[in-house]
Amino acid sequence: MALLQISEPGQSPQPHQRKNAVGIDLGTTNSLVATVRSGSEEILPDEQGRSLLPSVVHYDAQGVSCVGYEAAEHNSSDPLNTLSSVKRLLGRGVEDIKTLGDNSAYDFVADNGGMPKINTAYGLVSPIQVSAEILRKLAGRAELTLGSMLDGAVITVPAYFDDAQRQATKDAATLAGIKVLRLLNEPTAAAIAYGIDQQDSTQSRCIAVYDLGGGTFDISILRLSKGVFEVLATGGDSALGGDDFDYAIADWLRVELGLSEDLDRVEQRILLETARSAKEELTDCSEVQLDILDTRLVLTRDTLYNLVDSLIEQTLSACKSSLRDAQLTASQIDDVILVGGSTRMPRVGEKVGQLFARQPKCTIDPDLVVAMGAAKQAEVLIGNKSADDMLLLDVIPLSLGIETMGGLTEKIIHRNTTIPVAKAQEFTTFKDGQTAMSIHIIQGERELVADCRSLARFELRGIPPMVAGSAKIQVSYQVDADGLLSVSARELTDRKSTRLNSSHLVISYAV
Ligand code: ADP
Ligand code: MG
Repeated sequence: MALLQISEPGQSPQPHQRKNAVGIDLGTTNSLVATVRSGSEEILPDEQGRSLLPSVVHYDAQGVSCVGYEAAEHNSSDPLNTLSSVKRLLGRGVEDIKTLGDNSAYDFVADNGGMPKINTAYGLVSPIQVSAEILRKLAGRAELTLGSMLDGAVITVPAYFDDAQRQATKDAATLAGIKVLRLLNEPTAAAIAYGIDQQDSTQSRCIAVYDLGGGTFDISILRLSKGVFEVLATGGDSALGGDDFDYAIADWLRVELGLSEDLDRVEQRILLETARSAKEELTDCSEVQLDILDTRLVLTRDTLYNLVDSLIEQTLSACKSSLRDAQLTASQIDDVILVGGSTRMPRVGEKVGQLFARQPKCTIDPDLVVAMGAAKQAEVLIGNKSADDMLLLDVIPLSLGIETMGGLTEKIIHRNTTIPVAKAQEFTTFKDGQTAMSIHIIQGERELVADCRSLARFELRGIPPMVAGSAKIQVSYQVDADGLLSVSARELTDRKSTRLNSSHLVISYAV
């Protein structure tokens, strides 16, 4: 969500001024931390040499008992206290979670503000607290490897994350004691990682970044021209990913095993774990034998593809609508980049390749590419490099509008508009003698305010009393290069044409 200045690899300030900056890919399923050392990006592994950290936290009566691989081992035996995929819950209300299809088998409790808390052996914990534990673990790993404290981090988020989800991510970082240099869209980070390898860009290229992870799907359409990246469009589905493949396979297993639909939580977990490992194995072979609940089953690639094809099809529809937003056809895309663990499934690459009529690129490990791009960005933002040469323009992921009569949304800045941007629109009063007007700022695509997200409200007062419909109220929306939205409103009909009254507020909507 920002105008990013990215320099070429090279000059860094004097060594004693070097600061420790990392990029963190806070994933639904797995998280990673990377940094730039001696001019190139490196994933920082754990003491056992593993790059990934499963985004799983286990609680016992004393608090957090473990995070990552160790925590994931408690999945089957202690499902209620083993929290995974909480990224899906970040910034969401209890009502939102019900609409997620509630695939998570936790005990949810709403706090006073209607925000979900998860009931564990330790007590109630929020998705922000759980995410903070994952971030703390990664920061600890980085500090151990780098031998000193971290000065800041770039944390990646799905392009589709709205204000509340972005804010929740920042809150988690703050709770973990991490200074957030910037939140960066995951596909943008991937493009930055690939951009490093593509310095010879005398001709402009259009790039599609297809990111299918465990919990989210993002598609971004970028244009790279003379070292300048422009994000033309973003789209996707914040509730579609490899986890959904697992649910489809688990359901097939359930039917094959002749089990009823109401499984207990332990059975659910066993089916899901079997489903996931079978799916991953089928990336390298054509069938797998499964020994599950005392029964032997065989899952073939063909059966797997029957189960997941419709989900892959959904991602392709999102690709098509982003292409429309970018006003491009599939054949105008020069490069397709695959990101996210689920793109390892050969079927995904095949289908994406068919849509764009070219072989998708995956020369950088699809699990690591986002963290590497984030590390590169962190290096620039912390000041270890001079920021010039490469300029990256971003777009607004969700439309920004205003509430009008009847609870309807009037869009002022449409989604996928390149920032910085300023737009103004005129409104009028609807009652005789009306002296105040309530301005309600809305984010989202839907027509009804009730279906969108409310960002803020303020009142414009001191409108001179007039007949209904004769006041002219100008409302201006401005989003600066850092993704900060400012809204101002003023009455224009005053004869002296002075600014009668103006309200101004700044919303940190996507830093
Ligand atoms: P996220 O960004 O949501 O954390 P990742 O990019 O780490 O997710 O991807 C995790 C997903 O990738 C999981 O659903 C996992 O099962 C899937 N995955 C990992 N390896 C493979 C594989 N070899 N074949 C198919 N799916 C895989
Ligand atoms: Mg990911």
